[in-house]
Amino acid sequence: MSKLRVLVPIKRVIDFAIKPRINKAGTGIDTKGVKFSMNPFCDIALEESLRLKEADKVDSIHAVSIGPTKAQDILRIALAKGADNATLVDVGDETVEPLAVAKILKKIVEKEDSNIVILGKQAIDDDANQTGQMLAGLLNWPQATNASKVVVNGDEVEVTREVDGGSDTLKAKLPLIVTTDLRLNEPRYASLPNVMKAKKKPLTKLKPADLDVDIAGRLETLKVEEPPKRQAGIMVSSVDELVQKLKDAGAV
Ligand code: AMP
Repeated sequence: MSKLRVLVPIKRVIDFAIKPRINKAGTGIDTKGVKFSMNPFCDIALEESLRLKEADKVDSIHAVSIGPTKAQDILRIALAKGADNATLVDVGDETVEPLAVAKILKKIVEKEDSNIVILGKQAIDDDANQTGQMLAGLLNWPQATNASKVVVNGDEVEVTREVDGGSDTLKAKLPLIVTTDLRLNEPRYASLPNVMKAKKKPLTKLKPADLDVDIAGRLETLKVEEPPKRQAGIMVSSVDELVQKLKDAGAV
């Protein structure tokens, strides 16, 4: 029975705790001096892989990031948490759309002989929610998206998915794509000794051309806007006044 050879794609994104500022041209987020971290859903995907490894279901965990040279910092964190090895596909300052990411991931799946890809359901910077689905299409593998529970039995995987007002449980044979939802698990922190040890773990650096993938964009961002400012609230002194105000506003 084959154990899991897990590929975990990890995106470097603006830290979730930071309020993004729009750049002067209104075409994207101003990234100057901003803290970057591992995309939270990718952290959850990594944590699930580590838990499966601790349950002796995993042969190897390979972390991969497609991004600037600095993305190796988050790969080092993934290695410190317990990934066995990693690949950085260095795209410099280029923005890479989900289809190009999926094409690169397909090449890495083939290179690493992965039989499961566990990735975030979405990256919190662009909120695309596309990469896992596109990768499943390119590989012609089954996919279980938005996982809130993953159970592995030999080469069969049961995935419970969060759906409106309930849950949906699917079963599929390996190879498989799983995308992770927020409530799947709570990721661990990397300890300092492990961060030091991770410096010695293998990290391969590639360029998209090494994988023969064209990352040219197909989309043009026309405009990025802040949400409308919220109106200031008012204080009312009684329920009658509240009802009257709601009637005046046409809300009841
Ligand atoms: P998205 O489809 O962009 O919302 O991203 C969904 C998931 O795909 C992320 O949580 C990552 O696991 C993976 N992913 C997307 N972009 C990248 C990237 N540049 N490098 C590595 N993984 C990525």
